Amino acid sequence: MRQLLLVLAPASLTFAPLSAGLAQAQPVPQTTAKPGWQWTFDSAMTVVNAVRAGRSLQPKSWPNNARVAVLLSFDVDNETIALRYGEPTVGALSQTQYGARVGLGRIIKLLDAHKIPATFFIPSVSLAITPSMADVIKKSGRHEFGVHGWIHELNMTLPDSAERALLKKAVAELTQMTGVKPTGYRAPSWNFSPNTMAILRDMGFRYESSLMADDRPYELLQNEQPTGIVEIPVEWILDDAPLFDPRGQSYMNPRDVARVWMDEFDKAYEEGTILVLTMHPHISGHRSRIVALEQLIAHIEAKGPGRVWWATHGDVAEYVRKEAKLGEPKPRLIP
Ligand SMILES: [Zn+2]
Repeated sequence: MRQLLLVLAPASLTFAPLSAGLAQAQPVPQTTAKPGWQWTFDSAMTVVNAVRAGRSLQPKSWPNNARVAVLLSFDVDNETIALRYGEPTVGALSQTQYGARVGLGRIIKLLDAHKIPATFFIPSVSLAITPSMADVIKKSGRHEFGVHGWIHELNMTLPDSAERALLKKAVAELTQMTGVKPTGYRAPSWNFSPNTMAILRDMGFRYESSLMADDRPYELLQNEQPTGIVEIPVEWILDDAPLFDPRGQSYMNPRDVARVWMDEFDKAYEEGTILVLTMHPHISGHRSRIVALEQLIAHIEAKGPGRVWWATHGDVAEYVRKEAKLGEPKPRLIP
């Protein structure tokens, strides 16, 4: 598979030699953009409406009268975090290999002990590096696979043709390696290029989970038109990566993070909406951090049996689609 991937890789995406240098922080985009104060209101609205939250898809009730839906997701980035900028180091590769080697197994063991389903968004290069992860995830029959780019490429840095080709390749490879065609997309680092929405529509995705306009599921609009694509919204508050970076400025103790997650759950429970939590095997799979997830699960289970619908992103997306009579995703009108 490794050979296949290297053959398929466009020339601009081949891996740089390890001697290329130290891993860099996220590059600052070079821009000649006009600052907002020089825009007209109309041009601001065109940009605002390019991709925007449409109607809420919050259902009147959840299956079996559960009070809230809880959706756990794991972005199985592993080594692609070190590879995506083309300047991987041995140290960063080893730190991220931990996700496949240790973290994933520990997470699956916890989920399976509680019979909790989850969604695993995986860059296809990550799975190709450690293909055995597919069987580990598939074993219980409860979990879902979702798309997370080819090598965790940042959409904002890509021309339309490259972004489209990489996403097609990612879906084909993920389908081949898992045996299931994924229906959901999560953008690497949670951002869209100006072309991403059109590409997702053209490829027939049924739901998306990278945007942040609500606590509840909603329909995505493109240029003010309904798309029929369900958004399962995320938030950086509910992502382990920034808060668990021991060298980052926002580092938090995992037990304090667990408290934030519990507060988010309690409000979701009170309001009858959804809790969507994003974690990474190479981050939350560590011993002192899995404790945060254990504490959250115990807190949620303390509500009593049947009070919570633990579900995959795909199950929630299809449930709210049906309840809201959303119909099927609408093909884009290509001018
Ligand atoms: Zn990711």
